[in-house]
Amino acid sequence: MENVYDVVIIGAGPAGLSAALYAGRAKMKAVVLEGSKVGGQIAITSEVANYPGSIHDATGPTLTARMVEQADEFGAERVRDSAVSVDFSGKMKIITGEKATYQAKSVIIATGATPRIIGCPGEVELTGKGVSYCATCDADFFQDLEVFIVGGGDTAVEEAIYLTKFARKVTIVHRRDELRAAKSIQEMAFNNPKIEFMWNSVITEIKGDGIVESAVFHNRVTGEDTEIFAHEDDGTFGIFVFVGYDPVGKVFKGCVDMDETGYIVTDAQMKTNVEGVFAAGDIRVKTLRQVITAAADGAIAAVEAEKYIVHSFKE
Ligand code: NAP
Repeated sequence: MENVYDVVIIGAGPAGLSAALYAGRAKMKAVVLEGSKVGGQIAITSEVANYPGSIHDATGPTLTARMVEQADEFGAERVRDSAVSVDFSGKMKIITGEKATYQAKSVIIATGATPRIIGCPGEVELTGKGVSYCATCDADFFQDLEVFIVGGGDTAVEEAIYLTKFARKVTIVHRRDELRAAKSIQEMAFNNPKIEFMWNSVITEIKGDGIVESAVFHNRVTGEDTEIFAHEDDGTFGIFVFVGYDPVGKVFKGCVDMDETGYIVTDAQMKTNVEGVFAAGDIRVKTLRQVITAAADGAIAAVEAEKYIVHSFKE
């Protein structure tokens, strides 16, 4: 029968690619549905400085490329397809993709999370026209221009530091008067002469005719609204939004247990409440969403999927 697998891995970030590597090494017939792109969050991350062994020249895309090469080497199949519906009710799980249908003895969900938007007027219309969610992808457009970074977490502050290599001035716009980012990352930002801070502030509107020309900043303490316009010589400025992530799990709603925010509940073996269905990486309920924990989850899920198949599909 066509498209019958030991394991279908949904998602090709560090969790999915690690699961593919381990499944391949265990000689399982595995396929990774990689959606529209491989790499997940790290594919759009400028620096990955806290994954062991990944130092100096390590960027998200270079690390992703090495993970893909390694998974391929051990024989996991990869297809450019996205799951649109799943049926986990039978012993054989059915995953319907945009391009094909897959049957699997086990499934590893590794669909990760996606950047959150601010939700203010003008944001969607001007995305890709000055508004960005990816410094690695778009920093180059802001050479010698000004940029505003929205958010105060690790991502916002790390990407702000990265953007100082391109932009003339980088302003971190944070809704409180204290950053959420790790102290070590904060220190680097405070010591960077190109970075300024706009505390207790949020962007409430982004304006421009085909390109960002101004934005309205609301001070949550004073209640004041200030519209900042691009310098005449520049004509535009950048707005990079890093305000957290939402889980990518709509397709699995009602099929596996989730918490109230849509993250999938698993045990320490990555097992969901459905036999044979595992979840790994940022999509699952956990305290630390990092490349290292995603990779570990993927490895555990693949090993547990293999054990499950051995026990449940005895000839
Ligand atoms: P995060 O930790 O959830 O931080 C989101 C930031 O955006 C917070 O500062 C939050 O403000 C702010 N925010 C949320 N909604 C907002 C809104 N509507 N308007 C304005 N600001 C808003 O997200 P993250 O920085 O992307 O990090 C996600 C996870 O990845 C974290 O666990 C983080 O530690 C991890 N990470 C780690 C590294 C690293 O270790 N090098 C790098 C990147 C990410 P408040 O602070 O007021 O809530």
